Amino acid sequence: SLKGKTAVITGSNSGIGLGVAKELARSGADVVLNSYTDNDDDHALAEQISKEFGVTARYIQADLSKGDEARGLIEKAGQCDLLVNNAGIQHVAAIEDFPVAKWDAIIAIMLSSAFHTTAAALPLMRAAGWGRIVNIASAHGLRASPYKGAYVAAKHGVVGFTKVTALETAKEPITANAVCPGYVLTPLVEAQIPDTMEKYNMDRETALNDVLLVRQPSREFATTEQLGGTVAFLCSDAAAQITGTTISVDGGWTAM
Ligand code: NAD
Repeated sequence: SLKGKTAVITGSNSGIGLGVAKELARSGADVVLNSYTDNDDDHALAEQISKEFGVTARYIQADLSKGDEARGLIEKAGQCDLLVNNAGIQHVAAIEDFPVAKWDAIIAIMLSSAFHTTAAALPLMRAAGWGRIVNIASAHGLRASPYKGAYVAAKHGVVGFTKVTALETAKEPITANAVCPGYVLTPLVEAQIPDTMEKYNMDRETALNDVLLVRQPSREFATTEQLGGTVAFLCSDAAAQITGTTISVDGGWTAM
């Protein structure tokens, strides 16, 4: 049980982050939800998790494109036994057309924020004598696709940074691992479907099966619950010697 532990999950008012928050709460952890917005809905999500799982749940606003806000998130949380770096965005464009601001935002939100939160969380984990860091990378942390230059670079960077974190904490009861999902049907992927349908002149079903899931041999999306369960496993005693590695949840994508 993760009772008495506090989990900070970045980018968790939606999609995989929310799924992870729920599974960690189900295991008894108190959770801190986060995104860059500060809406009633965000705080209501925390209240809902608190009621459903009988844990303390808070929502803390922080824009992770800014390093000081990423560090501030951990400071405001006060305790951080489990850190899940999950916040992410996507932009699809050829290298020569790639908007510079999008490149910078993707690197900041998905790669640099993990550096900042990890730097802020490690002293808290060391003081508590225990810690788990799980970085949500991607199959694109291990493989590439055209037109996803910033995303693939950031995710490969996350996988590398995870290994360094593991080595720097190797002699301590702290582990750092990356989870590499294939396609999960979240708002992030939903947003790519209309473009794909238009670009290939396909209906939704065909675009899903013949373009998106073509890389995923199972031809099925992974679910946010499965991702949450994988993170919960990495936070369990069974995973105490698993560090500095990646776990793919990708229906066979990276087997090819
Ligand atoms: P999502 O859009 O549902 O969730 C992304 C989360 O990040 C949201 O909560 C959003 O508010 C937050 N976020 C974005 N910009 C932020 C910022 N500046 N500051 C704070 N929070 C911010 O998408 P998702 O699919 O759940 O993605 C979650 C993670 O999983 C991402 O890192 C993504 O790259 C990764 N991933 C997703 C898939 C997939 O198929 N959906 C596959 C592999 C990896």
